[in-house]
Amino acid sequence: MSVFFVFLLAGYLALKLWLSERQIRYVAAHARQVPAQFAATIELDDHQRAASYTIAKQRLAMLQALVAAAVFLALTWGGGLQRLYEALGAVLGRTLWLDLALVSCVVALFGVMDLPFEWWRQFRIEQRFGFNRMSQALFFADALKSLLVGAALGLPLLAAVLYLMGSGGPFWWLGAWVLWAIFSLVLSVAYPWLIAPIFNRFSPLGDEVLLQRIGRLLERTGFRSRGVYTMDGSRRSTHGNAYFTGLGAAKRIVFYDTLMERLRPDEIEAVLAHELGHFRLHHVIKGIASGLAIALVWLALLGWVQGRPGFAAALGVASGTQAPSDGLVLVLFGMVMPLVSFLLAPLRSALSRRHEFAADAFAAQHASADSLIRALCKLYQDNAATLTPDPVHSIFYDSHPPASIRINRLLASAPATASA
Ligand SMILES: [Zn+2]
Repeated sequence: MSVFFVFLLAGYLALKLWLSERQIRYVAAHARQVPAQFAATIELDDHQRAASYTIAKQRLAMLQALVAAAVFLALTWGGGLQRLYEALGAVLGRTLWLDLALVSCVVALFGVMDLPFEWWRQFRIEQRFGFNRMSQALFFADALKSLLVGAALGLPLLAAVLYLMGSGGPFWWLGAWVLWAIFSLVLSVAYPWLIAPIFNRFSPLGDEVLLQRIGRLLERTGFRSRGVYTMDGSRRSTHGNAYFTGLGAAKRIVFYDTLMERLRPDEIEAVLAHELGHFRLHHVIKGIASGLAIALVWLALLGWVQGRPGFAAALGVASGTQAPSDGLVLVLFGMVMPLVSFLLAPLRSALSRRHEFAADAFAAQHASADSLIRALCKLYQDNAATLTPDPVHSIFYDSHPPASIRINRLLASAPATASA
């Protein structure tokens, strides 16, 4: 069994590093020339800046993957978890508190491990390429807020799941799944107005002329909510974006102020039409439903490994004559799960890219494909997104279609909008 997990970790790490290496080589090899398709809209300087930016981010991600693998080894076969479990157990006894503390400590440990990487990304890479607008104080305030929000939401849920694991019978994982389903639905509704405002300020769109134009688009597409907002993304970064969030009456479309400043009204309308496409085509509901289906499979698997002490032992954690505690099993499962689920990343990304194509087609139908193409080019340029990603890296990671493929599809649909 141990051999299986060693191979799993090694395979996962090798795959991640190989994909990053491919991306770096591919982007560097295509940096000398702007792809013909974008020659008229994107300068060579911007193209090369995007290449350097992409490569710098990949290098950091490679280092982060190596450190994460080292922490994995130290916690499992290195005996870290075993010692942490014994130390906490000496204080808390074999109780629910022990399991709760154990899981919290490990989650906190991974958070602390990631923090220097996030700092470097923000204050070295983003700063160097002129994207950072964050102060150190805001960075650490964000980290603290995330910790508090995570604890407020996560601890009660974790306690309930551990309780169910301990006393919910052989099908406890079904109960845990129902709990998780309620939790994620409530969170989807509450996120836009309860949690997102902890980090950003949201204001309804103000511009009258733009509002009228948007009002007509909302009417055409049957969107009843008045929830179109701008967000002060410029507090943290010059990157621009727009997204659709929430469920039911809480649903809203959010534009970063940085994007609003850059786009003309027809381009804003086209981006909005794309986001409305996500709503009209039920992408949020589909995302939640597929997330719940996957959660059911994982929880069933967790229920299965719970009764097998060999699972913890194979990862180097033995608890003497006693069966490993539920908290220990949960931590180990949570650490192993990403290694397996990474293999499913291409599936997840493909589904997401399909939704993006569908939303683009919706935008081409209800607004203008040409305007959307212009808006996308500004987005690629402002975010220094590479126009030439490695195709294999893209299959794993890209939630949005590569620039050239996306724009080709839009161009193919453009004549239809001219007559509409
Ligand atoms: Zn989209």
